[in-house]
Amino acid sequence: MKLQLPAFRFERFQRVALIFVAALAAVVSADRIGEAADSWQAGVARVVITPDEPMWLSGYGGRSHASEGKVTDLFARAAAIRDAEGETAVFVSLDLIGVPIKMVREVSGIVEERLKIPRRGLMFACSHTHSGPALDHSLSYMLNMQDADWAQVKAYQKVLNAKVVSVIEAAVADLKPARLSTGSGVSRFASNRRDPKGLGPYDHQVPVLRIETPDGSQLRGVVFGYACHNTVTGDYAWSGDYAGFAQLYLEDRHPGCVAMFHTGCGADQNPLPRRKIELAMKYGRMLATSVDEVLGSEMKPVSGRLTTKFKEVDLEFATLPSKERLAEDAQSSSYFVRNRANFLTRQWDELGHLQKEYPYPVQVWKLGGGVTWVALGGEIVIDYQLRLKKELGEDSTWVTGYANDVMAYIPSERVLEEGGYEGDTSMLYYQKPSKWKTGLEEKIVQAVRELAGKPLK
Ligand SMILES: [Zn+2]
Repeated sequence: MKLQLPAFRFERFQRVALIFVAALAAVVSADRIGEAADSWQAGVARVVITPDEPMWLSGYGGRSHASEGKVTDLFARAAAIRDAEGETAVFVSLDLIGVPIKMVREVSGIVEERLKIPRRGLMFACSHTHSGPALDHSLSYMLNMQDADWAQVKAYQKVLNAKVVSVIEAAVADLKPARLSTGSGVSRFASNRRDPKGLGPYDHQVPVLRIETPDGSQLRGVVFGYACHNTVTGDYAWSGDYAGFAQLYLEDRHPGCVAMFHTGCGADQNPLPRRKIELAMKYGRMLATSVDEVLGSEMKPVSGRLTTKFKEVDLEFATLPSKERLAEDAQSSSYFVRNRANFLTRQWDELGHLQKEYPYPVQVWKLGGGVTWVALGGEIVIDYQLRLKKELGEDSTWVTGYANDVMAYIPSERVLEEGGYEGDTSMLYYQKPSKWKTGLEEKIVQAVRELAGKPLK
């Protein structure tokens, strides 16, 4: 008995121990599975893109000469994120007036070849600062530049494209385990600029993506958005404007962190009042404080898979000018009208016809089961942001405008019908033959619904 008892006890202990070990293993492996399913990697990087020498600034047609001095540096910043299955996306934030399609095509071609990240996995956003350099050729025909100025712009663009490639490569090289979480705050300085001023729709929400070390001890990156024109300053000094200040304040407050801004559908929103550098700093501080409040609050962990989708939809112009009309416009006393006529005449000569539609970029990323992140091209008005949030979920939808190509203003059907600058007259500065044809809002929204996996209406 004496021999049996311990044996029995040992056997029972063994069995209990085995059950315990098996249960522990099950718990550990369930944990690992959970961990693996949610294990994200992230990498961040930034590079200065301030031109080395004075050159033309973009954004205002009234400027008459090259830049003078600098208030802040301008940056290209990037955040790479990768889910447990290896799906990778890179968000790029640029302190620039726009995102020229030629740059996007060149950079994404190189990145696709070198890093095997497809076009759908790259999102190019900008702050739309009006105190950044002229680009090749987003909006630059509104500037009264001479041949030598254009040569300088093209040379800068070459350097810029290489820097954007390098910041994407650096962010991907920096990929390491990370904890991602999302949240949103509020900042109230944007105001609807269309008549009657201040009374139209707006969206003061500030979406925030937090990127930190797995234990939460170090904030590595923050991506945040706001739907408002970045047009407080308007002189001749390089400046990231309020968005530039917001990014720099956050990077200053959190050493080692890269802060990345994206503009929402703020084409009909202005920061008011404006035109003083102190106001740009003030709005930058307000925005950074709002982001900081979100960072310090309970945020929602990102878990699940990353999906990235991209497509182009053809948006039609309302009318096309005749050759006679272009010849007449080429003699106009307005250089805006002359520039557009010359641009369209060149297009006619090269293609044998005028483009009657434009390929418009629509992108949707899903960050796990939480956020649906929609990126739309052009200077797009607030109606899109409000409509998409309503249709796809107020708290789970982010909308970035000015993304992947800034080819013109993108009015909603309401704004198109009302006309004015955002609905019609701004098309001149983007060398577009006329305002958009009615029906564009539905086309864009349907494309988003399709990419977001929502049933088409
Ligand atoms: Zn604008």
